[in-house]
Formats: sequence, C-alpha cells, structure tokens
Amino acid sequence: MLLIFPPVAKPCEPPAGVALLSAALKEQEIDCKIIDANVEGLLYLINSDIIPVDSWSQRALKHRESILSDLKNSTVYKNMDRYHQRVYDLNKLLSISVDNKRFRITLSDYSDSKLSSVNSKDLLKSAKEYKENPFYNYFEDKLRNQIEELNTEFIGISLCYLNQALVSFALAGWIKDNFKGKKIIMGGGLISSWMSRPDYSDPFKDLIDITIKGEGEQPLLEFFGKKNIEKRHFIPDYEFVKDDVYLAPGKILPFRGSIGCYWSKCRFCPEKAETRPYSSQRASKVLDDLKVIDRKYKPDYVHLIDNAVTPAFLKALSMNTFGFKWYGFVRFEKEFLDQDFCHNLKKSGCEMLKLGLESGDQGVLDQMKKGTDLKRVSIILKNLHHAGILTFVYLLFGTSFEDSRAAVKTLDYVKSHEKYIDYLNLAVFNLPKFSEDANSLDTSEFYHGDLSLYLNFNHPMGWDRRQVKQFLDKTFKKQVSHIRKNPAFFSSNHAAFFNTFEDKS
Ligand code: SF4
Repeated sequence: MLLIFPPVAKPCEPPAGVALLSAALKEQEIDCKIIDANVEGLLYLINSDIIPVDSWSQRALKHRESILSDLKNSTVYKNMDRYHQRVYDLNKLLSISVDNKRFRITLSDYSDSKLSSVNSKDLLKSAKEYKENPFYNYFEDKLRNQIEELNTEFIGISLCYLNQALVSFALAGWIKDNFKGKKIIMGGGLISSWMSRPDYSDPFKDLIDITIKGEGEQPLLEFFGKKNIEKRHFIPDYEFVKDDVYLAPGKILPFRGSIGCYWSKCRFCPEKAETRPYSSQRASKVLDDLKVIDRKYKPDYVHLIDNAVTPAFLKALSMNTFGFKWYGFVRFEKEFLDQDFCHNLKKSGCEMLKLGLESGDQGVLDQMKKGTDLKRVSIILKNLHHAGILTFVYLLFGTSFEDSRAAVKTLDYVKSHEKYIDYLNLAVFNLPKFSEDANSLDTSEFYHGDLSLYLNFNHPMGWDRRQVKQFLDKTFKKQVSHIRKNPAFFSSNHAAFFNTFEDKS
C-alpha cells in the first residue's frame, strides 16, 4: 500500500505515524511505500515560478537556493537574527507562491478564506474542487507518477493536524477522480479526534473507503487479513527519508517510547478528554529500539514525541550515550531534583526538555490536577540550566481555574526564574468540547463547524479570552523580556539547535 503524509506540517522532520504503520506492515510482509507529500509539496511551491511582488520577495527569490541550504546548515543556528531573516524570507516566498488573497500558507499553517477545516461540508467541497487547491499542480507533477508506478489498490492518507485537513481532502478527491478503483484509507490524530465525538456520523463515507480511529497498526493489519496481532510498539521505518530534504541542520528522527500519556489526569488536556489508553513497553526494550534507530539510520537528533517521557525511560537514557542528541516533552519529575541525574542526561545527548508548567499559582495547578509542586519546579529549572539542558516552558492562561490574580502570580514566578528558562510558549486555553469540565461551564460554539473540537465558555471569574490576550500582550510579554525569542514557525522543533550552535558573543 501507499501511505501519504499531506501538507501542511512543519517541514523539518519526517512524519512518525506513517513510519510506524510501515514498520507494522513490512513486519507482516505487506509491501508499503511512504511519500512525505508535506515536505515535497512545500518545496515544490517554494521552488515554483514565483513572481515577486515587492523588493523583499525580489531579494528572497534571488537568494532562494542559499536560504534553503542555510537552513540545513548549522552555521545559521549560531545567530537567532540571521536565522529569522532566512525563515521569514522563505516563508515570504511560500506565501506568494499561491493565490494569497484566498489561501494563507506558511511554513507551519494552512488556511482557506472560503473553506473551513472543521466543517465536513467544506472538507467534501475541498475534495470536489481539488483543482483549486494550491497543491494541485504538485499532485499532478510529482504524485501522479509515483502513484501510477506503484500500482497499488490502497492509498492511506495520514491526517494528523488541522493544517492538513483541507489539503488531505483535496488529495482524496483528486485520487478518486483520477485513479479509478483505488481505495482510500484515512487515519491519524485529527480524524481520530473527530471519530471520538459522540455525535460523529461518518460524513466522509462516500469519499473515504475506510476511516481508522486511534493507533492504525492493528486495524490496518486486520484489514489485510493479519488477525490477532497483539504487538503495539514498532520501530519506525525511516527507509523513505531522503537525506538533505528537511529544513534542519541534520537528520532529525521522531521516536515514541509510549502511546498516550502515563499521567492522563490534567483536567484541561484533550488527551484526557479523548481517553487514549496508555501503553508502554519496558524501558530496556524501548532503549533497545532506540539503539536500532541509532545504528540503522544514524540520526543527528532524535525528537522524543511521547506526550511525557516516562521517568523509567529517562533513567535508561541517563545511563547511556548515543550517536545523536535528543529532546522531548517531560513532566517535572522528581528525578530532576538530583543534579547528577541532570548532568548524566546531558551526557546522554539531551539538548532540551519541554516542560508543561501551565501556571505559577499552586492553587491553579492543584485544581487542574497537574501534579506539579512549584517548589520542586524551582529546583528542577536550576538543575537543568546548570547541566546545560535548555528548558522550553509551556504556560496556559485562561483556564476556568485561573483568575487575573493567579495570572499575575504566574508572571511573578516566571520573572523570578527567568535565568533558568530558555524559551516560553504562551497559550490561551481552549476548552475541549467533550471534556468533563465542559459540562459544568456556560459554553458556546468556538468555531462554526460540525467538527470543531473546542468550545468557548463564560469564565466563572470573568477572566475571559479578550482580557487574557490583553494581559499577555500588554503586561506579560513586556515584563518578561530576557527570555529568548521562539524560532518563528518552527518553535520547539528548531529551538534545541540553538544550544549546540548558538554564538553568544
Ligand atoms: S501530562 Fe501532558 S499529556 Fe499528560 S495529561 Fe497532563 S497535559 Fe495531558
């Protein structure tokens, strides 16, 4: 079968989901090919016959090749300003490569002023009117041959993110119209979330032959007649990864040690609302799998994509060294209270940890069931900093547990730890539609679409989105000025490179 990962997602690393599916299929001797249509499609647009619209785009066009090669070279990651110039130039080219009155395409986003990604009728319209999609020429020029050559009956589309939705359906519409007899199988994180809605009524049944909810490996194997396969964890198959394609200073490979979240208690978290069952293997087995990745593909970086890397696996990592550096999401585990442990993690290749702090108010953390103690966080941030591990801290404002005083406490907490925080991600809370909390709040529709996953709500303490955004722009960002800028568009996907390479002079 053919597995396609459609645009738009950040073009800096290969997609993990299709690599896991491919591993499961090949293990059962089912032939499988992967096309990362995301990176191919975005590069196709960037390298197309672009007509400059101003002096900025003229300059960017003149330097197109060198911008692309700079972003694959470590030198530009020594200086954030130079890096940003390249990224903004490239993004400018991408945005004017399409009809930018209707479509807004960036290196991380896709939107269409006429069609909504969370409306099933619009998605079906995107399928029907596929010739209007900005990637249509890419489908014809690059995908057509590959599909014809492969001559397979089944084409899988991996729909993980909202920014892929309209293109995924345009792709499905194009396949149905041009390749009679092909069957389309759609899976991935976003379609799984839609299918988890209690009111989901399979609006795509006339276009998509099979939709898969949750982890796709077992259902796909069953579909191909391989029943009762219990195995859930596979070593991703990255044979399809072409060197020197992705916009990163080296080969990054995503790797997942566990499925779901071992904590699964945070009340604000969509992961909890969707109740994806947690599954992991013994840490020693996960470590063996990671060593296979190291030997077989020789990555420069491994991106650990677990929702939260388990303490057991962190311990295993800390006792080993690898040919790559790594980064990933962790909770504020008690193990980080030990300075030696943090130093050992650094020695094992840890460049950056992403940490969901959410709030600097202990009362808010307790109510949201975050399971985090702020006194512990203070020590952990210092320990990681002293070990030379970058900290990328995530904050969440505007939950029903927070009022303006609690938000100010978060600001004060961050200010007093500024030295130990390298990057910050500031998010405004979206209420998951089918969460427990949604039942007890006064809610209204957030996006108008039958597939929207979030709700608006009247904040019980009057701390509404408008006020939260104002606080972030006018107070928080002005007072917290010593923390680095996030890499534009790529954010945490490029942030770790500024540890290894950044020229602090
Ligand atoms: S630790 Fe992260 S993924 Fe797990 S429940 Fe909390 S917010 Fe969700």
